[in-house]
Amino acid sequence: MNILVINCGSSSLKYQLIDSESENVLAKGLCERIGIDGSAITHQPAGGEKVTSKVDMPNHTAAVKYVIEKLTDEKVGVVKSLDEIGAVGHRIVHGGEKFAKSVVITDEVLKAIEECNDLAPLHNPANLIGVNACKELMPSVPMVAVFDTAFHQTMPKKAYLYGLPYEYYEKYKVRRYGFHGTSHDFVSARAAELLGKDRKDLKIIVCHLGNGASVSAVKNGECVDTSMGLTPLEGLIMGTRSGDIDPAIVSFIADKEGMSADEVINVCNKKSGVLGLSGGVSSDFRDLAKASEEGNEKAAVALETWSYHVAKYVGAYTAAMNGVDVIAFTAGVGENNIDAREEICEYLGYLGIAIDKEANAKRGEEITISTPDSKVTVMVIPTNEELAIARETLRLCLCVIKKQ
Ligand code: ADP
Repeated sequence: MNILVINCGSSSLKYQLIDSESENVLAKGLCERIGIDGSAITHQPAGGEKVTSKVDMPNHTAAVKYVIEKLTDEKVGVVKSLDEIGAVGHRIVHGGEKFAKSVVITDEVLKAIEECNDLAPLHNPANLIGVNACKELMPSVPMVAVFDTAFHQTMPKKAYLYGLPYEYYEKYKVRRYGFHGTSHDFVSARAAELLGKDRKDLKIIVCHLGNGASVSAVKNGECVDTSMGLTPLEGLIMGTRSGDIDPAIVSFIADKEGMSADEVINVCNKKSGVLGLSGGVSSDFRDLAKASEEGNEKAAVALETWSYHVAKYVGAYTAAMNGVDVIAFTAGVGENNIDAREEICEYLGYLGIAIDKEANAKRGEEITISTPDSKVTVMVIPTNEELAIARETLRLCLCVIKKQ
């Protein structure tokens, strides 16, 4: 069955068509500037060239229409008709406490997702627009919602509660949710698989280090803690996000700079992290490494501060699980940044971790980078959230078919 995976943002829509049997990506692409002047779709069939077409996309329904057009196009298409798309899997950012698993989308599910909108006002409404656009154009195709938060729903109360008046949790559901759950699940499962072990017998720390970054502690197959919180702003220092800060800084800076709390939070989201720390050099780790090599001190400080914080979380989660068997690096920086991995692991010598420098010199590959006598196995495992969504979509669709 071919599964269309959709990741819909407020003005963008990423897609992949995946053959669920071979798990090959048949085509992928991106619609940009939806609802804004200059909208365009970039489509790439497997093994083919990327083609960008400037097309008018006043809304997401128009974008999905172009996606279908491209997928079924005579020249750049990969299927003959819409009938060859068996199901659609949607990435949904926030499922609140309502969704601990992926679900087949029904009207009831849509309503429940909508009820989580205030927890992710920038993401969930956009995700829902994508679902509705697909529903309009493919009314008989089953659709599945896969949540970024779901994998973390196994966290115990002591991990997800903040030290705030309990009534805020009761009234507003203010608590840690965590994100990148699809990736943490995929990578921890793959780590166990590669080691030939059952995930239920392992203590795994997954370091998802991309532009957005989070760490999770996966004990006996379940997430027991994760660094992102109510929103994806908490935790590690990221590309442009501050990660953990003293909450009093918000009103302090608001006062000094004549800003509102919302404006300071916007700075924390978009102008902080390694971008802010480096004095604006870049949020991209490749640029920062280059600047640091060329003697830019702030870029060097940004990188040093970033890896120190990652190492601190690994230490904390080792304590949370009373040990660690596997540390897995993933996402853009985790998969590709050799120096960053080495620097983080240098802090972890006390755990008996030893890195094989030759193995660590590889980028973007599934590989064990610790030495055979290292007390903890350190691995690099490229994440694949789209494949994980396609697998979930297939699994749930097969369940529905079985029930019928
Ligand atoms: P997100 O999905 O959160 O936007 P990614 O997982 O794509 O982020 O990660 C983006 C980061 O990965 C960038 O900071 C970039 O520097 C880093 N990265 C990607 N490729 C490489 C590479 N070959 N070498 C070093 N860093 C890389």
